Parts: sequence; C-alpha cells; structure tokens
Amino acid sequence: MTRYVYDFTEGNKDLKDLLGGKGANLAEMTRMGLPVPPGFTVTTDACREYLRTGRMPAELLAEVEQHLRQMQNRMNKTFGDAEDPLLLSVRSGAKFSMPGMMETILDIGLNDASVVGLGRQSNDERFAWDSYRRLVQMFGRTVFDVPAAAFDDELAAVGGVGADLSVAQLKDLVLAYKKVFHSHTGRDFPQAPHEQLFLAVGAVFRSWNAERATLYRRQERIPHDLGTAVNVMAMVFGNRGEDSGTGVAFTRDPATGRRGVYGDYLRNAQGEDVVAGIRNTMSLSELATIDPASHRQLLSIMQRLEQRYRDLCDIEFTIENGKLWMLQTRVGKRTPAAAFVIAAQLVDEGTITLDEALQRVTDEQLAQLMFPSFDTAAAPPPLTTGVPASPGAAAGAIVFDSAAAAAATEPVILVRRETNPDDLPGMIAAQGILTSRGGKTSHAAVVARGMGKTCVCGADELVIDGDTFAVAGRILRAGDVISIDGTSGKVYPGSVPVRPSPVVRYFEGEITAHGDPLLAAVERLMIHADHEARLGVHTNADTGADAARARRFGATGVGLCRTEHMFLGDRRELVERLILAEDDASRAEALAALLPLQRADFEELFAAMDGLPVTVRLIDPPLHEFLPPLEELTARVARAEALGEDPGRDGTLLGAVRRMHEQNPMLGLRGVRLGLVIPGLFAMQVRAIAEAAAARVAAGGDPRPEIMVPLVGAVQELETVRAEAEAVLASVPGTPPIRIGTMIEVPRAALTAGQIAGAAEFFSFGTNDLTQMTWGFSRDDVEGAFFGRYLGLGIFAASPFETIDSEGVGELVRIAVERGRAARPDLTVGVCGEHGGDPASVSFFHDAGLDYVSCSPFRVPIARLEAGRAASQAAGSDSR
Ligand code: ADP
Ligand code: MG
Ligand code: MG
Repeated sequence: MTRYVYDFTEGNKDLKDLLGGKGANLAEMTRMGLPVPPGFTVTTDACREYLRTGRMPAELLAEVEQHLRQMQNRMNKTFGDAEDPLLLSVRSGAKFSMPGMMETILDIGLNDASVVGLGRQSNDERFAWDSYRRLVQMFGRTVFDVPAAAFDDELAAVGGVGADLSVAQLKDLVLAYKKVFHSHTGRDFPQAPHEQLFLAVGAVFRSWNAERATLYRRQERIPHDLGTAVNVMAMVFGNRGEDSGTGVAFTRDPATGRRGVYGDYLRNAQGEDVVAGIRNTMSLSELATIDPASHRQLLSIMQRLEQRYRDLCDIEFTIENGKLWMLQTRVGKRTPAAAFVIAAQLVDEGTITLDEALQRVTDEQLAQLMFPSFDTAAAPPPLTTGVPASPGAAAGAIVFDSAAAAAATEPVILVRRETNPDDLPGMIAAQGILTSRGGKTSHAAVVARGMGKTCVCGADELVIDGDTFAVAGRILRAGDVISIDGTSGKVYPGSVPVRPSPVVRYFEGEITAHGDPLLAAVERLMIHADHEARLGVHTNADTGADAARARRFGATGVGLCRTEHMFLGDRRELVERLILAEDDASRAEALAALLPLQRADFEELFAAMDGLPVTVRLIDPPLHEFLPPLEELTARVARAEALGEDPGRDGTLLGAVRRMHEQNPMLGLRGVRLGLVIPGLFAMQVRAIAEAAAARVAAGGDPRPEIMVPLVGAVQELETVRAEAEAVLASVPGTPPIRIGTMIEVPRAALTAGQIAGAAEFFSFGTNDLTQMTWGFSRDDVEGAFFGRYLGLGIFAASPFETIDSEGVGELVRIAVERGRAARPDLTVGVCGEHGGDPASVSFFHDAGLDYVSCSPFRVPIARLEAGRAASQAAGSDSR
C-alpha cells in the first residue's frame, strides 16, 4: 500500500523524489539531531494523485490525522487549542528548488479563540494578533487568490508596515482582513483548524500548476510531472520580541566563493520578511554581538551541514526567545565564479576529489566566466552603487514593470523597488535587474543568480516614482539607457564599453593565475580536465592568428582549415580567372597565381601549430559561390546594355554564372566532385601544402599537415584524389610525411566507411552536412521556417544543428567509427562540425570513441572542460 506521509524522523536527504528537496533535507537535519521543529512530509505521490483525481485520497486524510496526533503528544499541545494552541506551517517543496515559486502558509490553527489563548500563553498579545493577521492574509492570498493589494490597502489605511502597530490597530486589521476575505471569497475565514490545514495542503498541490511555476520549470527544464511534496511543521516564532528573529545564511559567500559564513538576520521578524527585502537586515557578525550563544551554535551547525553535504549549503533559521531553530537547508546556488572557487577549496580541504570537483562545475559556468565586463576606466561616474547580487555586465533601456520587459524588443533593464514571483516573465526577458531594496538573499538576487542573470539590488538611493526614478540629483525615465555591473554593484548612465574577462586574459597568457582565487581554481580544474580527458580538442582555424589564439586556449591541433576562406578578398579576381578559363593554359596560369598565396597562408598556419596536426580541407563549396550573384550580374549587364555600353567582363561572368547555375547547389558540384572535374585545382592546393611544409622543415620547424578530402561518398572518389595527391607530394623535395584522409559527411560515406577507410588514414565527421543530408533539410532554409513548430511539438528537444541528433545522425557516426576502425585499427577519428563545441554533443562524441573534437577558438576551453568531465564521469567517479 502506498504511504502518503513520512515523519521528519523517517526520511533522509536521498529521498528527494518522494519527499521533495525541502522535506528530504528537513529529515536529514532531524536525523543529525539538529534543532528542527517536529513535523512530517506529505509525499509527491499524494500530490500527483490529487492533481490526477482532483481530491485528497482518503488514506492521506487518515495518515495526516495520525501524524498530527503523534506531534501533539510529543509537544503536549493541541492543534488550534483555545488555551495553548499548537500552530503549524504548511510549506511546499519540490524535488528541485524553485525559489519563491510555490506558496507557504504560516500560523495555521489560529482562529478567533486560539489567538486569545496564544496571547495569554505567550504573554504577548501584540505577537498573537500580528500572527493572526498574517495568517488571514497569507491564507486568503494563497488558498483563495485574494489579490495582495486588497490586504495592502487595509494595512496602508491603518498607517503602518506592521512592526510598529499597536494591539488595538492589529485587532482592527484582523477585522478588516476578514472582511476583505469575505468580500473576495463569499465565505467567512475558516475557523476550524483541520479545515485550514487541508485547504492549505490542497492549495500547495494546486500551486504546482500555477502559471509562474510552470514558466519557471520550462525555463529551468524541470519536468512538469514531478509534483511537489508538502511539509507540515510546528511553528516557531521569530516575532516574539528583541531576543527573537529570523535569518538566512550561506556556509560560504555564494557570490565569490570566499570562505566564511555569510548571512542576513532580521530581529523580531517572521518568515519571509528577510527574503522579501522589505526591512534592512543585520549581518551574522552583528548577531554574534546580540546573541553570542545562538551565533556560536549556528556556526557549528553550518560546519556540520557542510561536512554532511560536502558542499556549500544555505540555511533558513529562526531564533525564538534566544532558542535557535533550523527551518531549511539545501546545497546552495552560486555564481559561476563561486562554483569554481568552492570546488577547488573543497579539494584543498580534503572534502572531495578532483574528479568530483570537475562534476561540480559546468561548461555553461565557464562560458559565463568568459563573458566580457565593463571597462570601468571608460565609464562615467556611477549614478549609485547597490548590492552586487549576480555578476555580469548588462546595459539596456529602463523598464519599470515585468510586462513591459517581457514585451520589449530591445535590451532592457528591469528596475523595481523589489521583485516578487509575479515579475518572473520580466526577469527572464530583461538583460539585467536593478532593485532599490533587499540584500543578496532577496527574491531578485536569488532568482537572478539561479538564472545567471546580471542583478544589482538594494540600491537604496534610487527613488522610484511611477515611470521615473531619481538618483544623485538626476531623473531617469523609462526608455533611458543604463548599465549595471553585477560584480561591483555600480549603476552607470548610458551604455558603458566592455572589456575582456580575466579568465580569457588568463587563457591568453596575458596574466597568470597567481594570487587570484578564481583563476587558480580555473587553472587547477582545467589541468585535471586535460589529464582525465580522452578526447583531444582541436580548433577550426584558417589563419595563423586564429590558430595561435586557439593554441593558447589549449587546442592541440587544427581540426579544420577551410581553404576556400583563402580565396576571398582581393584574391577573388584570381578565382574568377580560374573559373572563366577556357583552356588548359589559362587555367594553369590562374592556378599558378594562386599557388604562392596559398603556400604563404599554410606556412603561417603550420608555424602557429608547429609540432601539432593541421588538417587542411581541400576546397569544398561550389565555385560559383565566388562569383557575384546572378540577379546582381543580370541587372548590371542590363543597365550597361540600356546605356548602349559594352558590359565587358560582366557579360562573360554572367555567361559563366548561368552555365554553372544549380537548383540545389548544396547537392551539386562541390567538394571532391570539383576536384575530379576541374583539372589541376586539388593538385595546386596539395602542392601549396607540400611546399609550405617543406619550407617549414627547411626553417627548422616541425609541420604536421594532413590533407582532408571533402564530401566523399564512394571510396573510388577518394582513391582517385589520393593517387593524384601522392604524385604531387612525391614531386616536392623535402616534403615531410603527410597523411591523407576524408570527411564523413554524406550518409553513404558513413555506411561504406569500411571501404573508405582502405584509402583514408583519418576520418573527420562533418556533422553539419551529415545532419542536413540525414534529415534531408537545409539549415539555411528550415531554421526560420518550421523549427519553432518542431521544437514545440517535441519532434526534437534541441535543434539537431546545435546538439547532435544521437539517435539518427549519431547512429551513422557510430556505424562509421565501427566499420572504419574494423578495416583500419589505427584510423584517427575526429569531428569538425559546429557540434564539436556543444557540450552535450561532446559527451556523445566521447561515448562514440572519437579521438578529438574540433571547434572555434573561443569554445576550446569549454570543450576541454567538457571532455574532462565526460571522461571522469565515465570513469564512474562518485559525483556526490
Ligand atoms: P520558500 O521555499 O519560499 O523559502 P519556505 O517554505 O521556506 O518558503 O517558507 C517561507 C518562510 O517561512 C521562510 O522564511 C521560513 O523560514 C518560514 N517558515 C516556514 N516554516 C516555519 C515554521 N514552522 N516556523 C517559523 N517559520 C517558518
Ligand atoms: Mg525557504
Ligand atoms: Mg561539409
């Protein structure tokens, strides 16, 4: 029989599927003997059942009642009792933390009778009535969707922010809130404690499908069918005077990773007051002076939590009359920089291994660290400085509400007093978020960090008034451009220029990692990634400069040099001569003019990659791509003729373009086919490679060129080119050994890879063409036309041009690797399509047994990290 309820004493941190993250961690803390108020968790099974049938299963009701009785016995109090009531909180908690997404209701069990009992029992009438008014408000909003503004208006009418109201005012407020409740729901605020409890549990279940929760899941790719658990626990009170309060803390700084606890504490306050950022908080070190005993206990608990979770933890706690209570913990979110720094620290501290450290960082975090930041030297004086809550540099036009941000087509900065879950669509759409209230743990900060979005919060000099804000004697309006720096907290007028990231400068070799915790951590993890990686990382580069940069970034070869890029610019004319040549002599002349240019390019490239392989692809695209477009030529010739002039060269070109016109150029005369029909073209390229290599050898270098033939579908094509190339190589004195191989980018090549390997010393998958030809659609034609629809229908989860389609295209890759290696065991196999820089694809290529991936220079460090992660994961290391 399914059990729907687990006591906190029964669960543990590994039961997140069943108990949700919050419930599993509350159970873990209870097992550790930490001071957690008693309680129990209603499982995600119960939620799914409720959402499926629309009602609470009967067993669930019985189990809740039974656990409630146990709790009452243990605490010697009765739920909602009129003399000395046990009060409860009802908290959502899904498997993955969804900050601010789901609702929490505090003080359940208070009613017109027990509020009096609570006041007498606690000797604090103010506190009792304050709790009651909070309950009516939270319950109304969460369970019955009463608009928040309806309650806020009443609060404003009695003239307070809550903390400074008298008992009489609070009593009036409860009456007013109950009226609001009645007028919006058509019923009285429920007085029966058990009815309150079950209504609240049902509301939490339903909030799983609330619009903003669904939106957050889509954004974070969390499955929609998990459901949430519900935690029911005894209330403890941070709002019982100056020796009470509530706080949040991190075991290390979540922004920089720096060692040492970090947190905010708010005296005489309850629950969400800290997170809402409505009142100004004090730091944990200030707590040490006002309540040293609780502070000491808190620090020792945080240390134990880190040891147990072997990672940065964040916590929520409450102090009630000097007694500390733990209300939540979890492995905390952090910035990309903190992720690297903390992973390295935990290795130093002997808590985790280097393999585990690699699993604690992601390609995406490294990519973020490589983003540029503001060039502060070129920046105007800042308007103001807030709390640096989530790093990055963002500039955009000011918008003051979420809807405007979501509707904007230009980059925008969302400016708010504070944010709440309703602002989520705007926060997703904006480049950055700026708030005038709240600290590093406010809603804006937590959500922005989770999304990797730039955020400055608590810029309290900003005075926001409708569609303008005033700061430093200036008025800024919606639409004005500002720049916000999430690393320093500075807010600048206008759009500030950006400079390269220190991580990039470190990769470039401009600065060393010495003395910088972030760079040292990056260095350490990259060294380990390279050590673990089985996949090599090469780069796609056509120039010496690109190759040199990629080499500094850690590339161990050029996986793809596109020779056609050497035919552009002022060399176009030479190519035109080649294409227009009508006899062998003029063709040979054009080729002879191109030869020295190509040779010089290759020499530069081989020098930059001295000692490492450079795979040169012979010309691939159809030749008419080097001629002006048909329409343009037609117009030029027509204009000349209309003026009675001789169109001259244009006339000849037009004839050639017409002759060469193809219906489907992508499937036409290109790649190896060109080499086979245009005499001397490939031979010239091979000669340029050979002569450049020979020149490098003569200069004392160690060139390692490889010749790659594109678009081969049949081994006979390759054999023909190979024979011609070998003859040329043999004719150039001093040529070092040069390997000849082919791209695998036509499905037929993958299927006949066994034969093709007979004539190829290496394969390189051209996954762009292979994807186009396997699916039968051209990238340029389909991405705008129907990919959105296909993604929406779930025909594919990501564009197959971004992440390799492992089932279809990937199967061809696996077949080709297997058949190729069977025929030639020492065959080298790589990939040079854009997929080589895509992390998900990198781990696919690792699994498929490739030797290397090749990607653009800037992606090289990211691919190195991912190659190391793929290998250390595959080695079966314990990742948590
Ligand atoms: P969230 O997931 O949005 O953080 P929580 O369930 O953690 O929501 O609860 C919101 C606030 O209420 C938190 O500050 C939490 O510490 C507080 N809270 C929850 N349960 C209790 C309780 N039993 N006693 C006192 N405060 C509580
Ligand atoms: Mg919480
Ligand atoms: Mg191709």
